Amino acid sequence: MISLLRALTGALFMALVMWGSTCAAANDIRVLATTYPVYLLTSEVTRACPGVYVDLLIPAQTGCPHEYALSPRDMRKLAAARIVVINGLGMETFMDHALVNLKNVTIIDSSANVTQLQGAHHHGHSEHHSHGVNAHAFTSPVQAAAMVRTIGKGLAKAAPHMAGTCLKAADAYALRLEALGRRVAALGARTNNKDVVLLHDGMAYFVRDAGLHLAAVIQEDEDVQPSAARLLEVTRQCKEHRPALLIGEPQYSEKPLRALTAETAIPVVLLDSAASGPENPPSGYYEHVMEKNCQLLEEHLGNN
Ligand SMILES: [Zn+2]
Repeated sequence: MISLLRALTGALFMALVMWGSTCAAANDIRVLATTYPVYLLTSEVTRACPGVYVDLLIPAQTGCPHEYALSPRDMRKLAAARIVVINGLGMETFMDHALVNLKNVTIIDSSANVTQLQGAHHHGHSEHHSHGVNAHAFTSPVQAAAMVRTIGKGLAKAAPHMAGTCLKAADAYALRLEALGRRVAALGARTNNKDVVLLHDGMAYFVRDAGLHLAAVIQEDEDVQPSAARLLEVTRQCKEHRPALLIGEPQYSEKPLRALTAETAIPVVLLDSAASGPENPPSGYYEHVMEKNCQLLEEHLGNN
């Protein structure tokens, strides 16, 4: 009899433990960021929010998801998410269909208050420029600050119990990014020759903030290496107009830039767009990347 009672108490205890753990899980908030930069910004905002888990949909090393196709693993992540934070500006064309089919999910479009830039591609076939808008607003710390405030407000609305924490964290982070933006804004004043050439238009937002002038974008289509004819054309332009710098990204092959610099002796600098990065980025990673970009330009533009 006693052993039966003991067994029953044990079962009751186990049931309570299980119930408790499912309760905790039910209160957890699963936030899914579609792309790496949005993941970085959202993670920073939610760092102080207990029970909020931010996951990244596509692999961290993907970069801009041009030709990306959702995997079954991605679909499972989408199904488990309560809040999905998107880049917006046409970056998520690869998952338009999946987003439409999501039920009971809050979608936060982080680009809602971004000051947009038109795509610089001459014949942009790339899908995420299909609206004519440059989707890489995250390369500007000031636009990233706007994205952070939008994310903070969206999270506060979707999960009112942590509204205060989210809004406070978003505001503090946005202020840090805006301070970084002032460092970027001072870059252009270091040089009389403000013309720069970009390999890919990802850094166009950063260039605008820096007060530099985008003379040309080498890669007409993000997914395709520039043709020999295109390289010849840009080489001719560079010889004629002598831009201060050729700017590439570690996310793209340096080859076209190496060819150009060999022909023109115009220096090359690689600026990280933060479109991809380490899988488990440390706190402050986005700021670290942008500070390094500033530092590189401070070094290069000082010599002009
Ligand atoms: Zn891109």
